Amino acid sequence: AYDMLIVGGGPAGAAAAVYAARKGIRVGVAAERFGGQVNDTMAIENYISVLETDGPTFAAALEAQVRHYEVDIMNLQRAERIVPAATPGGLVEVHMQNGGVLKARSVIVSTGARWRNVNVPGEAEYKNKGVAYCPHCDGPLFKGKRVAVIGGGNSGVEAAIDLAGIVQHVTLVEFADALKADAVLVNKLKSLANVTIHVNAQTTEITGDGQKVNGLGYKDRATGAEHHVALEGVFVQIGLVPNTEFLKGTLELSKYGEIVVDAKCHTSLPGVFAAGDVTTVPYKQIVVAAGEGSKAALSAFDYLIRQPVL
Ligand code: FAD
Repeated sequence: AYDMLIVGGGPAGAAAAVYAARKGIRVGVAAERFGGQVNDTMAIENYISVLETDGPTFAAALEAQVRHYEVDIMNLQRAERIVPAATPGGLVEVHMQNGGVLKARSVIVSTGARWRNVNVPGEAEYKNKGVAYCPHCDGPLFKGKRVAVIGGGNSGVEAAIDLAGIVQHVTLVEFADALKADAVLVNKLKSLANVTIHVNAQTTEITGDGQKVNGLGYKDRATGAEHHVALEGVFVQIGLVPNTEFLKGTLELSKYGEIVVDAKCHTSLPGVFAAGDVTTVPYKQIVVAAGEGSKAALSAFDYLIRQPVL
């Protein structure tokens, strides 16, 4: 059995693995895809101390640092279920899709999240070529250009306000007949001179020239009229879905499906900790996930040294 088993190998899981391994305990990392979301990222310009890098390079560096220590890396392994310890301080079981069962005295869940896609023609084709999901990450790439934000909830309206300060013009497209964000945000958005808002507007396609995005098509749901807006970028802001389907009924999740954690990354299950995008911790960023991963490992280690046998 492992002293600490980390489920998920993104920035949170990798940081947890490094911190745990340096305590000289038995550590394993089981991940469906080591590196996580950063594999899908082009430019990373906001990881402190690294001026600029790209996702695959960053993911390879995460893996190299974890491999530097004695950590069992089990890549391409998907967890399907967690079974709590039968007795306090006992072994937690992680059941894998391949039928295997991994046992550990403590578990860190760092299975991350995924952005909800709008699923229109052009979205997949132009991902990272004008189609973006994270305004904090990719906003500055569109400085002085025209962008659209799809989604008029809090995250969409926050993104539009944020982007309006950087880009030339923002078009916000909302499917419903009104923006669903908090009134204070909606009022702020409406006060901005370089923002156009379309409600009752169904995004139909993201267009491009074969290389990059050049526009967005939407249908006015009231009149049925089709419109096309020329622009250089589209931010999809219709939700971030935590990868917690396999945990339902096992530990406490928020109404958004995030694992509820306290300031020390404890979950509602003794011996099970969580870190990164999969949790209730705000701001889903690499630097935040890495910090949380290190906290979860230290917290799990605190738990282990309080058990009768380590
Ligand atoms: P993730 O990176 O999501 O990693 C989750 C891990 O868990 C993966 O290894 C995954 O395979 C694994 N996993 C999931 N389910 C299971 C399961 N059931 N069993 C086993 N393993 C499982 N942030 C920035 O700070 N700067 C940026 O420039 C930036 N750009 C981004 C661009 C894009 C396109 C995207 C999608 C995100 C971007 N982000 C950026 C956000 C950043 O990538 C995330 O905040 C960060 O990766 C979260 O780390 P994490 O370890 O919590 O989760």
